[in-house]
Amino acid sequence: MQAGLYISEKQVKADSIEKPAPQPGEALIKVAFAGICGTDMMIYSGKHPRAKAPLAMGHEFSGVIESINSIGSPSSFAAGDRVVIEPTLSCGSCAACRSGAFHVCQTLKLLGIDKHGGFAEYAAVPLDRLHRIPDELTDTHAAMAEPVAVAVHTIRRSSLKVGDDVAILGAGPIGLLVGLMAKQAGAGQIIISDISPYRLKKAEQFGLTALNAKEVNVTEEVLKRTGGNGADVVFEVAGSQLTANQMIEAVRTQGQVVVVSVYKQAPTIDLAAMHFRELSLTTTRCYSKDDFAKAIRLMTSGAIDVSPFISHILPLEQVERGFQLMADPEASLKVLFKP
Ligand SMILES: [Zn+2]
Ligand SMILES: [Zn+2]
Repeated sequence: MQAGLYISEKQVKADSIEKPAPQPGEALIKVAFAGICGTDMMIYSGKHPRAKAPLAMGHEFSGVIESINSIGSPSSFAAGDRVVIEPTLSCGSCAACRSGAFHVCQTLKLLGIDKHGGFAEYAAVPLDRLHRIPDELTDTHAAMAEPVAVAVHTIRRSSLKVGDDVAILGAGPIGLLVGLMAKQAGAGQIIISDISPYRLKKAEQFGLTALNAKEVNVTEEVLKRTGGNGADVVFEVAGSQLTANQMIEAVRTQGQVVVVSVYKQAPTIDLAAMHFRELSLTTTRCYSKDDFAKAIRLMTSGAIDVSPFISHILPLEQVERGFQLMADPEASLKVLFKP
C-alpha cells in the first residue's frame, strides 16, 4: 500500500510499505482523510525525540473499518463503520493510567509517531481507540476531531468563566480552535496574536480580535483592551520565549496562564513576577476519551465549524508539497491528505 513517509530531516516521500495486519483487538482502517499537525512538522524537522524513520506519520485521521480482528475482544464495531481515531496509546498500568488519566500515561505513545499512522491507505488501530462518526458529520470534518479535542481539553482545564477576557498567543490551528472553544464557553473579549497576516485574517473571520505581533506590542494592547488589568486567562500556544514572557505580562493579577505549547527549547519563566501577582499556571496535554467524544459532538451539532480550517486536500503522492505548504504559515492552515 502507499504511505506518506518520514525519511530524514526535511525529507518525506510517498512510497509503498506493507499493508498492516490487524492484531487481536485491532481494526484495519481504510483511511479517508488525515491531517498534518504541528507534531508532524516537528517530526519533519528531525527534532522529534521518539519518531523513527521510515514512519507513516499522521495521528489526525478518519476512515472506514475494513475488517476487525476481534479474537478475545468482542466489539460493537463492524466492517463498514465510519470512524475517527483517538491516536493516544497508554500502557494501562502506570500511576497515571491507574488513576484514569490515560492521556498523561508515563509512557504515552501515539499512532503516527511511535508506530505507523494515518498517512497511508490503511492503518491498524486498537478497537478502543475508535469513535463512530455520526451521519451528520463528514469524513473530511471528522479528521479534525483530534485538534478540536485538544481545544476542548484546554478550555476544560482552564478556569475560564462566562464573561472572562481571554488572550491567546499564537493563531495556528490550535490557537484558533481554542479561540472558538472559548467563545463556546462564554468568554468576553477574545484577543489573539500572531505574526502571520493570513492566520490573523482567519481569526478576524471567526470574530476574534486579531493582533499582529510584528506591528503592535501585544502586552500593551491586551492591557489597553482590558482597562489596564490584563486578560483573565492567557493561553500560550506559540511556544517561544517571547510568548512565555508575554503570558505573564498580559494576564491580570490573580489570573491564570494556560500553557498549551510544546516547546522545542525550554523557556525561562519569571516566577518572581508570577508570585508577586499571585498568578496561576496550568498546563495541558492531549485530551481524554471524554474530551474526544465532546469534540465530535460539538462538530456534529455545528457549534464548532471546522471547514474554514481546511486549506488544502492533497493525494498522498503530494506528501512533500503538503509539508512545504504547512511549513509556510502564509500558505496554509490545515492540510489534509486523502489516501
Ligand atoms: Zn495533532
Ligand atoms: Zn500508563
